[in-house]
Amino acid sequence: MDVLLVEDDEAIARPLSRGLEREGFKVTWVATGLAAVDAADVDVVLLDLGLPDIDGYEVCRRIRARSDVPIVFLTARSDEVDRVVGLELGADDYVVKPFGFRELVARIRAVTRRRSPATAADAGGPLHVGALELDRRTRRVTLGGAMVDLTPKEFDVVSLLAQDPGAVFARQQIMERVWGHPWYGPTKTLDVHVASIRKKLGDPGWIETVRGVGFRIQSAGSAAVDVADGDAGDAGASS
Ligand code: CA
Repeated sequence: MDVLLVEDDEAIARPLSRGLEREGFKVTWVATGLAAVDAADVDVVLLDLGLPDIDGYEVCRRIRARSDVPIVFLTARSDEVDRVVGLELGADDYVVKPFGFRELVARIRAVTRRRSPATAADAGGPLHVGALELDRRTRRVTLGGAMVDLTPKEFDVVSLLAQDPGAVFARQQIMERVWGHPWYGPTKTLDVHVASIRKKLGDPGWIETVRGVGFRIQSAGSAAVDVADGDAGDAGASS
């Protein structure tokens, strides 16, 4: 398995590369963000946030623009804001420095194993929930005809819920189906994704929180169509 290690601190990068190679990974080490963006396709990216040229968030954004490769942030910053930003940008997981080598290897194996098991298993025809349509083959989402730009994980969450509109999916069930393993990190992750989905769909009513259990999807009604996309509203309406 090919690993791209993006880390400017040699004291971390060298022993980490050696350790990963002992585990059977093939490691490509780069020390700048731009080198990471230019690097060949790999199976997983380990991405330091503090880099000398462009920061890890920007690297993540640029890699995500062209690839669905699993990305694990290596961060010295542990505050919630950074986690939320990272996950919204499409990172799959993160470890906080100093991290244990075993923990990192476990997470690499987990993120590469997940590879969207929920959608891979049931890439069927389009799913409909009210005005919301999900095309699982192309992974495109439209709401009242307007495109909704979901991250890969957000798509997987919505796609799972939309397989049975109105039914409650337990948190653990969603974590296992979408992330492919019992989550190691804070349980906040799912909430972050749900909050982002609600925002993008323009109405929190689309995904209902069932306290102490999980979530379900249901049509938020026609009102959602108007706010689905800032510039997709009815231009003709006068008021
Ligand atoms: Ca650094």
